[in-house]
Amino acid sequence: MRISITDRCNLRCKYCMPDGIRCVPAGQVLSLEEICQVAACGAELGIRHIRITGGEPLVRANCCHLIKELKQLPGIEKVTITTNGMLLGEYLEPLLAAGIDGINISLDSRDRELFRQITGTDGADQVMESIRQAAASPVPVKVNAVSLDLGEENLGQMTELAKLYPVDVRFIEMMPIGYGKHFPVIDHRRLLEQLGAMYPDMKEDQRIHGSGPAVYYRIPGFQGSIGLISAIHGKFCDKCNRIRLTSQGQLKTCLCYEDGEDLRAILRGGLEGEAQKRKLGQAMEQAVIQKARAHCFDTPDGITEQRSMSMIGG
Ligand code: SAM
Ligand code: SF4
Repeated sequence: MRISITDRCNLRCKYCMPDGIRCVPAGQVLSLEEICQVAACGAELGIRHIRITGGEPLVRANCCHLIKELKQLPGIEKVTITTNGMLLGEYLEPLLAAGIDGINISLDSRDRELFRQITGTDGADQVMESIRQAAASPVPVKVNAVSLDLGEENLGQMTELAKLYPVDVRFIEMMPIGYGKHFPVIDHRRLLEQLGAMYPDMKEDQRIHGSGPAVYYRIPGFQGSIGLISAIHGKFCDKCNRIRLTSQGQLKTCLCYEDGEDLRAILRGGLEGEAQKRKLGQAMEQAVIQKARAHCFDTPDGITEQRSMSMIGG
């Protein structure tokens, strides 16, 4: 279960949360206690792994406290986080102390100017420093880059992060969600050919790297692997076991569709204790039963999700 703990962010990535986007009023966002209630219910239903995301999760006060609480829930085996890395210098130690099991850092370009153009902020060096520090920590670190048409030099610089540090570098096909709709999809079949030409000794990596949909490759001499997450040209819906809790408490089961169960209405509906837990559990089960068979990103008229990725929780 991916849990978005805020729709706010300290960056303004063009494809996610461009300048001027409105944030939801704080009262509509689940409290940390409400998030824990949903997570506890999910754990009873069989959820074992929680990923904390956003917006930028580290801008939410007490994020590390929440992680510590989630780690203590019976049944929860792993709590991981996806962050843009801007605040990791400050929060790496508290995250480790809270028991975080893995850190994904999003970075599309190491180039200062490209980073500024994409995110609206001068932060490339800061994120690189976060990657360096996180890579030296005891938890697995992955770097996630959305595939944008930034040229071969950028591709090489991103890939070589896995040579420089013991981190997996994953390229993610842009999905036509929110502002992502206005960006071209870089076809990962072409990207794979390009990587193959750049690194002729690259081989598919059969080892299991976690529970996600990435296909991994190894390059001799590299410490980490290269992963491709190809929702469009390598559809993996038949293997998808993700559910997503938005910051406003909707339980979504597919990024493509707006449908989901309004758990906030149950949390704030006046029920308490076991009665509330039962109703939450029923709604969560209902959402899972109704999970769509597949996305329809290739037929845009069928996409009903209109919100930005920062609202949903990427
Ligand atoms: N702020 C955090 C971060 O950037 O890692 C967490 C939230 S962000 C929405 C999670 C991930 O979603 C980021 O790696 C971002 O690049 C990715 N993302 C945003 N919009 C996307 C889209 N339309 N298609 C694919 N990935 C997207
Ligand atoms: Fe913020 Fe992450 Fe969206 Fe960039 S991708 S605007 S860092 S939430």
